[in-house]
Amino acid sequence: MKLSVLTSNCLLCGDFTQRDISLCKACEVSLPRIESACGQCGIPLEKAATANALCGQCIQTSPAVDYTISLFHYENPVSYLIGQMKFQQQLSSAAILANLLCSEILDKHSDAGMSAKPDALLPVPLHKARLAKRGFNQSLEVSREIAKAMAIPLFVNKVERVKNTDAQTHLNKQQRLKNVKGCFNVISPSLARHIVIVDDVITTGATTNELARLLKTKGVEKVGVWSIARADI
Ligand SMILES: [Zn+2]
Ligand SMILES: [Zn+2]
Repeated sequence: MKLSVLTSNCLLCGDFTQRDISLCKACEVSLPRIESACGQCGIPLEKAATANALCGQCIQTSPAVDYTISLFHYENPVSYLIGQMKFQQQLSSAAILANLLCSEILDKHSDAGMSAKPDALLPVPLHKARLAKRGFNQSLEVSREIAKAMAIPLFVNKVERVKNTDAQTHLNKQQRLKNVKGCFNVISPSLARHIVIVDDVITTGATTNELARLLKTKGVEKVGVWSIARADI
């Protein structure tokens, strides 16, 4: 992935770096990566878990999402970088995070067990009121970088968010599931067989699973999720 700025300072420690991203190698290595996770919903698991392990929840009730890659725990400094991207419109932060996620996906794709490259990427849409307030959709910015690097078509304006679900941090799992019900609407009838939803942070997975459920009612056969971070709840 190429960036417009080739030499800059590390966004975390301030040291000069000549890498393609504004993050030095030492800071990159220190980021809180998820070592082992449920292959289907992405929830972090014990380190000893095998590559294709599933969590108890997914074994009990299979979610609409078929597979998930979440790169980091939602902790500092990843939460700082995501905050910079989301609220300060720091696009160099978006580029760093997309770049790291992209490398991880390419690594996993070269593993035999990983599923085929998707037909399209779908950034989780923001409600238009939220979009107007924030000015841009962070998931779309991350998706753009990945779509470019992996040559995957990007779905923009195919799905809209019709319910402005407020920050769900104070809701429990049941309330979240209820809150996201019917929050998306498919605008375009022409979708694809295999779609990957791209999100910045996954918390319970209720939102992405609702979107995946909806896509499957429209004939999509396989839905994956790629996210920068996963909150440990
Ligand atoms: Zn650094
Ligand atoms: Zn799971």
